[in-house]
Amino acid sequence: MARIVQKFGGTSVADIPRIENVVAKVKREIDAGNQVAVVVSAMAGVTNHLVDLTRQIDKLHDAREYDVVVATGEQVTSGLLALALQKQGIKARSWQGWQIPIRTDGVHGKARIEAIEIAEFSRRMDTGEVAVVSGFQGLGPDQRVTTLGRGGSDTSAVALAAALQADRCDIYTDVDGVYTTDPRIVAKARKLDKISYEEMLEMASVGAKVLQIRSVELAMKLGVRLRVLSSFSEDPGTLVVGEEEIVEKELVSGIAYSRDEAKITLTLVADRPGVAAAIFGPLADAAINVDMIVQNASGQGRTDLTFTVIKSDLERAVQVLTQKKPELGFDDLLFDPNVAKVSVIGVGMRSHSGVALGMFRALADKGINIQVISTSEIKISVLIAEEYAELAVHALHAAYGLDAD
Ligand code: ADP
Ligand code: ASP
Ligand code: MG
Repeated sequence: MARIVQKFGGTSVADIPRIENVVAKVKREIDAGNQVAVVVSAMAGVTNHLVDLTRQIDKLHDAREYDVVVATGEQVTSGLLALALQKQGIKARSWQGWQIPIRTDGVHGKARIEAIEIAEFSRRMDTGEVAVVSGFQGLGPDQRVTTLGRGGSDTSAVALAAALQADRCDIYTDVDGVYTTDPRIVAKARKLDKISYEEMLEMASVGAKVLQIRSVELAMKLGVRLRVLSSFSEDPGTLVVGEEEIVEKELVSGIAYSRDEAKITLTLVADRPGVAAAIFGPLADAAINVDMIVQNASGQGRTDLTFTVIKSDLERAVQVLTQKKPELGFDDLLFDPNVAKVSVIGVGMRSHSGVALGMFRALADKGINIQVISTSEIKISVLIAEEYAELAVHALHAAYGLDAD
């Protein structure tokens, strides 16, 4: 007997027939003699709708009440799935994040899981009851509902799998696995049988939404065996494994893109020690993550500072910086939400040079201008105008020989 965590994303639970399809996937594991915990997302489109409702009231809403609203989507699905399982004669019970509880920090809207009190939950699983857990939610230190950031049900599933010492964590979604790039953008994308945690982490962190970044971080840290597979096919999917398990290391294994960032430029910032800390400190205090950063000397002891933030944080970032303008002493604050980040990822970059040059050439051939560049050991990212995002992804996928025949 094994313990399995199965996670089903929004499209997998989009309506009642699809929830019945999930019942069949759960039943298969039970019939194989396994104990099953199921983590569910909100039905497709529901979270977007809930987010939109909060934004209609105020774009700079109170994060605690935002969580109260957006956490409800998952509650509906967990109840529906428990009912659908019961109808097939399967013992099942729903669990909300606060009932287990899944304890998180207090950063509402993007909380991190700190601990899961698993004893009672685990005991109930031992009685053969299927646990149906609302993903995405937790309980903050103030005893209020928190949510884990968009796509956070993946992280709920991995954290639960770790707490339960599950044998596997299967992430069921609407594609057959992890591809060389988003298969909805590039028809010639190839499915990978295996990908390393490191590459998956980079791909997720630069925009491949197939797994939430934090879920990959946790799986890597806690050694959770993770599989990405489709709710709608029998394909075995993609295993996310340690780098040592991958025999043939590709130079470039994937291309990712994100339209989720916005660019901010502060012009004529004083070029002296402490200025970057004075700018990024208040943003960090407001829980705004800064991603790419570039600084251009403009002479006379002043520089232009350009950086990116998550698009949904743009208004807040502009507000924070505008308030601090007297102290920071910049000349102008410019921002542009119409940008995209395109990235090339591969562990082979550790030992080979020339990958960046190939990227710059492929983009230049298409006349695409690069606004900001950032790199890590196994990734190169560039910021470009949003309108060129798909063209760039296609061009790079072909340039690195990733197109399927
Ligand atoms: P779910 O609702 O099941 O959590 P998501 O929409 O969060 O599903 O993630 C699945 C989607 O991720 C796919 O439909 C696909 O468009 C997108 N995606 C982006 N990059 C990749 C990639 N490299 N491989 C597979 N899917 C990707
Ligand atoms: N329902 C949440 C979202 O849409 C969490 C998830 O689906 O993983 O972001
Ligand atoms: Mg998702």
